Amino acid sequence: MPIYEYKCKNCGKEFEKLVPMSSDKNPECPQCSSVDVIKKISMTASNTSGCTTCSSSSCSST
Ligand SMILES: [Zn+2]
Repeated sequence: MPIYEYKCKNCGKEFEKLVPMSSDKNPECPQCSSVDVIKKISMTASNTSGCTTCSSSSCSST
């Protein structure tokens, strides 16, 4: 089961959530309960900062 990173477009909160492959619905923001969130794929649960593409904290491509 993949872990996805989301960023809330309403309040800017970033969070991660385990989502079943069959699910294509956006989760609610844990901070403001908005479902207007951007999905960013992430394969690790611990990589919560830095670049999500190259896993470097010094990369600012995101
Ligand atoms: Zn929010």
